[in-house]
Amino acid sequence: MIVDLRSDTVTQPTAEMKEAMLHAIVGDDVLGDDPTVIQLEELVAHRFGHEAALFCPSGTMTNQIALKVHTNAPGEVVCDELAHIYRYEGGGIAFNSGVSNRLIKGDRGRFTLEQLKTEINPDDVHFPPTQLVALENTCNKGGGCYWEMAEIKRIAAFCRSENIPIHLDGARLYNALVAQKTSEAEMGMHFDSISLCLSKGLGAPVGSVLTGTKDFIKKAKRIRKIFGGGMRQAGYLAAAGLFALNHNVERLAIDHENAKIIGAILASKKEIKKLYPIDTNIVLYTLEESINLPAYLAQLETKGIRAVSMGTQTVRLVTHLGIGNKEMEYLTSVI
Ligand SMILES: *Cc1c(COP(=O)(O)O)cnc(C)c1O
Repeated sequence: MIVDLRSDTVTQPTAEMKEAMLHAIVGDDVLGDDPTVIQLEELVAHRFGHEAALFCPSGTMTNQIALKVHTNAPGEVVCDELAHIYRYEGGGIAFNSGVSNRLIKGDRGRFTLEQLKTEINPDDVHFPPTQLVALENTCNKGGGCYWEMAEIKRIAAFCRSENIPIHLDGARLYNALVAQKTSEAEMGMHFDSISLCLSKGLGAPVGSVLTGTKDFIKKAKRIRKIFGGGMRQAGYLAAAGLFALNHNVERLAIDHENAKIIGAILASKKEIKKLYPIDTNIVLYTLEESINLPAYLAQLETKGIRAVSMGTQTVRLVTHLGIGNKEMEYLTSVI
């Protein structure tokens, strides 16, 4: 048996999802008349209380478009040092937008308003103007932790008072919402733009959605075309996203439960030096110095268990809708 815990991006579309894709009514989305894409964009915008939305091929693209639209070089984006936009998007902040990146040393990817305040540049020719604050929720490299709503509110109110837009990399936002029992609208009201991945725990094969004001999305559409993300009969993919949003949200709680079960077993292992708290669907831990990380991963692989390295001596396991009772039984018996 293969138990693939490398990421929640490895999910295979289910028969029901494929059925929904097969019957999608499609148009040409670059010309703006794909009804299924429009339906998906309207649904996401409506859920988060934003005016409009844009369907894109990936979460990297939705983030990079947001960075491009919100900034105007010279300028600076403030985010946590673990942020995906800084670490895992190929240096796109510099490449696409030509702005610099100010990093905050937070707690597993989350920072406080007090920390943020010291990183906002004064109006002085020596400094690039602070043009965007970006949060990530849940935090991938922080081990799937989520932000306290109270801190988000404080930070958002501050950004508003300073006239600095605030973007949310919500690749796994629904994991945070389900774990915290928070509504989309409650979250959406604090951000100028949100990037939401459909291809992570929600289980769609491809796609992310960017939300914001009508004016922001109009500009975003222009950038999407330039980035090569204008897709034609994209409704087939949007149909999978719609299916995911209507069927796979509540079940994220199962992934969170499974991650906790795995963590409870790993907690007693002597080869593990540190196990991070498990808040959603990510299990992150570091191995004792005596353990060779590539050999450890290779040994898991021989038993059919797939995991990835997330830096020095660090292993990441991610639960998702492909991990059911059978997989959990096998996995717990092996580990
Ligand atoms: C996966 C992910 C993204 C987007 O990744 P794509 O593979 O480009 O869709 C963005 N932010 C975070 C935190 C992620 O985990």
